[in-house]
Amino acid sequence: MSCDDPMSEPLVIVGNGMAAARLVDELAQRSLGRHAIAVIGEEPRLAYNRVLLSSVLAGEVKTSDIELKPAQWWRDRGVTLRYGCAATAVDPVTRVITLADGKQLAFRKLVFATGSQPIKLPIPGMHLDGVFTFRDVGDVETIAAAARTEARVVVIGGGLLGLEAAYGLAKAGAAVTLVHLMDRLMERQLDAGAAVMLKRAIEAKGIHVLLETETASVIGTDRVEAVKLCDGRAIAADAVVVAVGIRPNVELARGAGIKVARGIVVNDHLETSVSGIHAIGECAEHRGVCYGLVEPAYEQARVLAEHLCGKNIGYSGSVLATNLKVSGVHVFSAGDFIDNVAAEQITLADPGVGTYKRLLIAHGRLVGAVLFGDTADGPWYLDLIRAGAPIEAFRNDLVFGRTFAERRAA
Ligand SMILES: Cc1cc2nc3c(=O)[nH]c(=O)nc-3n(C[C@H](O)[C@H](O)[C@H](O)COP(=O)(O)OP(=O)(O)OC[C@H]3O[C@@H](n4cnc5c(N)ncnc54)[C@H](O)[C@@H]3O)c2cc1C
Repeated sequence: MSCDDPMSEPLVIVGNGMAAARLVDELAQRSLGRHAIAVIGEEPRLAYNRVLLSSVLAGEVKTSDIELKPAQWWRDRGVTLRYGCAATAVDPVTRVITLADGKQLAFRKLVFATGSQPIKLPIPGMHLDGVFTFRDVGDVETIAAAARTEARVVVIGGGLLGLEAAYGLAKAGAAVTLVHLMDRLMERQLDAGAAVMLKRAIEAKGIHVLLETETASVIGTDRVEAVKLCDGRAIAADAVVVAVGIRPNVELARGAGIKVARGIVVNDHLETSVSGIHAIGECAEHRGVCYGLVEPAYEQARVLAEHLCGKNIGYSGSVLATNLKVSGVHVFSAGDFIDNVAAEQITLADPGVGTYKRLLIAHGRLVGAVLFGDTADGPWYLDLIRAGAPIEAFRNDLVFGRTFAERRAA
């Protein structure tokens, strides 16, 4: 089935990332042929598993191993793939999309799946050679080239991405300093107890961690030479990786007159302010939330596929769960815990063996979990949070994990 099939509804997906690939898969499973699908991607390659870029940087997998689907898979589903070419304009009235090479495609339905871009700090020196971000295959190739043995690298940002970049670089032999503004690592996912253990584990990988430290500027003539901190110190550097956050790619939608806040605003049918035009993944903003993880993008892709195939189901938001991909450092967090003052807490900590578990319970249900060290029960806790299942029957044993709790409840 191609875009030209008169029996199929022309559907254009902008972006060839993880959300787009999953949407095509979900649509193909439901009603192959109902839509004539065209996917437009700016990156010059087939869709790949972006989550695994950290493992590519750490040398644990190769770029060729992270492709989501081979070219034949797309062909078999009749998808018209245009990659290496950005979409530059969308006309929601004439229903035409324009590409960077001047070509135009007509559509009846359109889905924005344009993801996010890394934020650079508004400080002097960000333009210098040797200052990198960490978002796509191109970034990993340039960072890896700079990460020669004994290179001095400063990573700015102690969230998931910054930690994974620091680990990959340290593993390649670079001398890494990680600079973080906040008083603990991964502050959006971890509570203070787990973050202390994480810092210790990261330092044991040979990474120098500076908390509560603000970057003033990057110094150099053409290339980066040092990172200047607000307290006056300067750290000599051959390269800098900036991992301080992401910003949804919304410009194309904004240019089309579609409602945009932080992301492209969508309702529970993942529909934008223009009928028949949708948004999913990191570029979308649903009920005021822009997600920065892949699982919500996949849930949105499934709901949108159902909707496009005529089912009246809605999306009501996702429970977030995070795993850090640093070899030997097991960290898991899920649900709501940092702002939830109403919840009761159960904490089990054994600093001697490096394990920490904190569970939050509200109204007889598990609402949040933070695990460090032993994360094997993470998926079980996540299922309990998602299901909103009552936990009274095994509450006393909940913190000891699934095997123990279920045996006692039986
Ligand atoms: C190093 C790294 C590690 C990560 N680790 C995790 C993790 O452990 N767990 C987790 O849940 N998430 C992780 N993430 C986040 C996860 O990768 C994203 O949530 C996911 O990729 C979002 O999918 P998406 O399709 O919305 O965006 P993307 O996968 O970014 O895809 C968007 C695509 O749209 C393209 N595009 C943008 N504008 C245009 C245009 N105008 N025309 C054509 N194409 C366009 C972009 O080039 C891009 O290829 C990680 C991300 C990175 C970078």
